Amino acid sequence: MDKLSTSPLFLNSKSSIKCTVCEKILKPIQIIIGKCKCAKFYCNLHIIPDKHECQFDYYNAHQIKLTSNMPVIKDIKMENKI
Ligand SMILES: [Zn+2]
Ligand SMILES: [Zn+2]
Repeated sequence: MDKLSTSPLFLNSKSSIKCTVCEKILKPIQIIIGKCKCAKFYCNLHIIPDKHECQFDYYNAHQIKLTSNMPVIKDIKMENKI
């Protein structure tokens, strides 16, 4: 039992949040600043989207922002036609 209690696996089961890439156990401050837009947690090294093959769709998120401004332009065109 002594071997089990000191094994890394046992320590991991006690910790709730690890880096998704390297499985390094995150400190409370890293949990706060280490949450990516893809809803997963990363250490200081892997929080960069390029370092963890981020699943968050930055391109589409940008497109949605652009299209949300479109109705205003359409409305102006419609008024001009009428
Ligand atoms: Zn990491
Ligand atoms: Zn990410």
